[in-house]
Amino acid sequence: MNGRRPIIAGNWKMHKTSRETVTLIRELIEGLGAGIPACEIIVAPPFTSIAAGVATAANSPILVAAQNLHWEASGAFTGEVSAAMVEDAGCTHVIVGHSERRQYFGDTDETVNLKVAAGMRAGLIPIFCLGETLEEREANRIFEVVKRQLVRGLQGIDLSEPDRMVVAYEPVWAIGTGRTATPEQAQEIHGFLRSELTGIGSAGFANRVRILYGGSVKPSNTRELLNCPDIDGALVGGASLKADDFLGIIEGAI
Ligand code: PEP
Repeated sequence: MNGRRPIIAGNWKMHKTSRETVTLIRELIEGLGAGIPACEIIVAPPFTSIAAGVATAANSPILVAAQNLHWEASGAFTGEVSAAMVEDAGCTHVIVGHSERRQYFGDTDETVNLKVAAGMRAGLIPIFCLGETLEEREANRIFEVVKRQLVRGLQGIDLSEPDRMVVAYEPVWAIGTGRTATPEQAQEIHGFLRSELTGIGSAGFANRVRILYGGSVKPSNTRELLNCPDIDGALVGGASLKADDFLGIIEGAI
């Protein structure tokens, strides 16, 4: 036992209206039944469904995350949402640096770093995502890439409290493709990230911080991934949109 409570987090991306959010969260609560689950459960609906999600998840083990934020506190940033607004809406967590944001919306290591800092200032727990593309993997650049993302993304961040941060390793080639990293491939990078975190933070921080795997996680592959010593849970896209699948993943984490 490493003492790290697993986390299963669902990234709903641009799916689920408020009404659909209420339905899915109710199904999850019903499926979980009474009692305290062995893992932390987080769902990240789109901004417009957060209020409905928070209200429905109240008094349940389900926590609600946002999928993004802007690092400025307020101002003329049309279409953006600040960390304080995300916290005010009832979120406990925020996904930062997801590869889709890096790929389609111009997030860089530097803006990801600003977002991590802003989230933490507002009392949110960032789910800080990183991972290599297929080209980078094939060019044998995995370690260099994830180390750069880790170091730059966490530059100047207070790493004294391991429960105030979650790291998610998401190889881009495994996201939404049905192609999951093997447990060996994932463990290799998770172990590397944990050892790098010892240098960036401290051994205490590195040993306690949860590092999630993301990339085509489904009920049938959850257990073997989470059995790896440095994999502390999953960030789930597609399979988080159906209650049965997400509940199956939660079961696999136990
Ligand atoms: C994700 O979007 O973070 C993700 C891991 O997606 P999927 O599970 O669909 O690969």
